[in-house]
Amino acid sequence: MRVAVLGAGTMGHGIAQVTAMAGHDVVVRDIETEYVEDGLESIESNLEGGIEREKVTREEADAALERLSGTTDLVEAVEDAELVVEAVPEDVDLKKETVADVEEHADDEAIIATNTSSLSITEIASAAEHDGRVVGLHFFNPVHIMQLVEIVVAEQTSEETLEFAREYVESIEKTPVEVSDSPGFASSRLGVALGVEAIRMVEEGVADPRDIDAAMELGYNHPMGPIELGDVVGLDVRLDILEYLREELGERFRPPQALKRKVRAGKLGKKTGEGFYVWEDGEIVGVSGEVAE
Ligand code: NAD
Repeated sequence: MRVAVLGAGTMGHGIAQVTAMAGHDVVVRDIETEYVEDGLESIESNLEGGIEREKVTREEADAALERLSGTTDLVEAVEDAELVVEAVPEDVDLKKETVADVEEHADDEAIIATNTSSLSITEIASAAEHDGRVVGLHFFNPVHIMQLVEIVVAEQTSEETLEFAREYVESIEKTPVEVSDSPGFASSRLGVALGVEAIRMVEEGVADPRDIDAAMELGYNHPMGPIELGDVVGLDVRLDILEYLREELGERFRPPQALKRKVRAGKLGKKTGEGFYVWEDGEIVGVSGEVAE
């Protein structure tokens, strides 16, 4: 299959990598040569890491790199593609513009997938004239490691497009789940629901964050507890998603005051060194409020 990936950032380069590893020909497009090169370099370095860990052979990596190319030219990227996956920044107007541009230059039969993590696929699809060809393919970061892809079915998505999306996801050896276009899809809605309740429990003094996280890690086999995960994702990102889900789905997603206070104080989690935990060199060294205060 010939696949075009639009955007060579965090997600775009990952999607390009797993697609080329599966034997498809991939063109990655970004707006600046430098970004295209950075994306291709990230793929090379991921593949080198895979060789070191003996997950990938040198031959497989070389063959994947042979199938990959980069460009800043949208027409060159999409004109022969059977599938176009957009991974441009999360801005609904940019996504709609991208879909309309792709439709203008791609084959009539080409499928257009969007990797949005929160926007309405139905709204993005409305930018296409033949809107049945648009579908959501929600990948997870890091793409080469994470097994899940949510196939998000817009109001307009046709049965043929859905079938194509299933075949593609299986071809790259990921596991698809299908979800109709709705706020937070399946993954964010459930993940955020758990995270928000965990923060309310901290607020109410039900338990210490370490104990809440241990309850989920040891009792439910989650690889990481909900409070730690919030700190890793970024509390500002969590707050934005919650505000959106509250607007769309109601008060059960009302952001807790404790979360708002953290964000206002610039305590955004791992990336700023403090959230609900205190972090040093990427590791938790204590609970916020308990150390050095
Ligand atoms: P990013 O900022 O790392 O990459 C976006 C890239 O798109 C940049 O390199 C930018 O130069 C490029 N770009 C901008 N306009 C473009 C255009 N018109 N055509 C081609 N490229 C263009 O962002 P990201 O984290 O890779 O996110 C991309 C999309 O994936 C967003 O919709 C985001 O919500 C979604 N997503 C992100 C994650 C994540 O964990 N980062 C997870 C799932 C989904």
